[in-house]
Parts: sequence; structure tokens; C-alpha cells
Amino acid sequence: MSDPTRPRGPRIFAIANQKGGVGKTTTAINLGAALARAGKKVLLVDIDPQGNASTGLGVEPDKRMVSSYDILMDEAAPSSAARQTDVQNLWLIPATTDLSSADIELISNEKRSYLLHDALRQPAMDKLGLDYVLIDCPPSLNLLTVNALVAAHSVIVPLQSEFFALEGLSQLMLTIRDVRERANPGLRIEGVALTMHDKRNNLAQQVEEDARENLGELVFETVIPRNVRLSEAPSFAMPVLDYDPSSRGAQAYKALAAELIARDT
Ligand code: ADP
Ligand code: MG
Repeated sequence: MSDPTRPRGPRIFAIANQKGGVGKTTTAINLGAALARAGKKVLLVDIDPQGNASTGLGVEPDKRMVSSYDILMDEAAPSSAARQTDVQNLWLIPATTDLSSADIELISNEKRSYLLHDALRQPAMDKLGLDYVLIDCPPSLNLLTVNALVAAHSVIVPLQSEFFALEGLSQLMLTIRDVRERANPGLRIEGVALTMHDKRNNLAQQVEEDARENLGELVFETVIPRNVRLSEAPSFAMPVLDYDPSSRGAQAYKALAAELIARDT
């Protein structure tokens, strides 16, 4: 059954958490690949100046001719910036280090928070026939992340299963509330994904219990385990689903993709 309230065009998810190293990029690459494997057309937009998602998908810095910086600056159309990756159905708009000065360059631009929103809604994007857009955010609540939150329908929050993980969320929640009030009233939290979870570790169990108690249904049922295959895959420029399809990491991201798809049908 299709949902008549569903907006036209792809569902746009910002993958955000201002903490670094919590699994944003790993989630962007592997959730993207798992959705693509399930037959969905997916665009990953890398807006982290570090460009880890771009590298992890095999697009080295010298091959990033057109980047997310160019689309933010309106120097390129996103429909032409999007390039097919080695994964069928998965497109990428890569990031370059130019992005690190975007905050300053855009300071006097009145539309500075809406640049990604407007770019992704250009009519030419329709021809890509996308089902999902995933935006891999930098580890900061800066203008780039705000652009992602303004552009998105909802936010996927990777949460590392460690002590103080939940405390770190309040800052992100405040920013989401602020973006809702000022620019994107429909912005929802799609879900909190517990990452790097170690079942045998009592602390990780405690974090999961606390998260489910405090955030309830916002926490995805799927938990991403700590799995070395997930950390190895990027150096082979592959999503884990190609690198080691039977690994626990691959199975977890497949399950997370299925959880998302089930919500949309
Ligand atoms: P972020 O984008 O939030 O900074 P990353 O996705 O880059 O975080 O992850 C940080 C580091 O942890 C990377 O080296 C990555 O390979 C590793 N990592 C992420 N998720 C897992 C996981 N579930 N199991 C093992 N290693 C992981
Ligand atoms: Mg990252």
C-alpha cells in the first residue's frame, strides 16, 4: 500500500551525530548498499570534508571532479554530480576538503541553511528515480549538518554503545528542535541505531536498556554489532555486503535496511 501522505520524490535521511567515530559513515555506506541491494535506488551525499564515505566507496580524492561542495555553491547540478558507484543502484556525490571552509564562505548568504534542500529538490533530480537519499554528516552541528537537517525528512542517529552515549544526544536533539522551528517543521527522528554493540559487554547491554527505556520506539530494533569486517571493508573500497556478505555486520545492515523499507510500504 502506498502512503498518500508520502512526499513526492525520494525519502531523505540525514545521518547525524555531532560525535565523531560513532558509525555515521559506516552506516551511510552499508545502509546505502543494503537498500540498493534490496532493489532501491539510493543516493549517498557525502558532506563531511573528511570524505570518508567517498573513499570507502572507492572514489579517491583525485577523482572527485564534481562534489557536494559544488552543489552547495550552486556550481553544479546534483543530478550531474551524482555518480554511479561499483554497487548497482547506489549513486554518490563525493565530498572534498573545500567543504571545510563552507561555513565561512556562506556566512553572508541568506539562504545558507537551505542550499542542500534546494539542490536536492531540483526538478532534474527526478530523472534519477531515487527512492532514498542518505546524507553523511560531519561530526559537528555546523552549517553543513544544518543543511542536511533542513533538507531531510528524517534523521538517523547512530549511537555508539558506550558510557555517556545518551548524554551526547541532547545537543543534537536541541539542534533538531531548532531546525524544526525555523526551517523544517516536518523533520522527524527516523531512528536511533545502536552501533558497535558488543552483546557480551555489560556496559553495552546497559546502554541498550537505557536507550530503549528513554527513547522507546525511536530506537531501531536492529542493533549493529561490533564487527571487524565493517572496519576492514572501507580499505577494500567496498561495502561490507560485498566484502563479506555473511559477516554479522553485513547481516545487521541488511536487517536495518529491511526495517526501513518495511516502514515505507
Ligand atoms: P563516524 O562517521 O561517526 O565518524 P565511522 O563510521 O567512520 O564513524 O566509524 C568510526 C570507526 O569505527 C571506523 O574506523 C569504522 O570502521 C569503525 N566502525 C564503525 N562501526 C563499526 C562496527 N559496527 N564494528 C566495528 N567497527 C566499526
Ligand atoms: Mg564519518
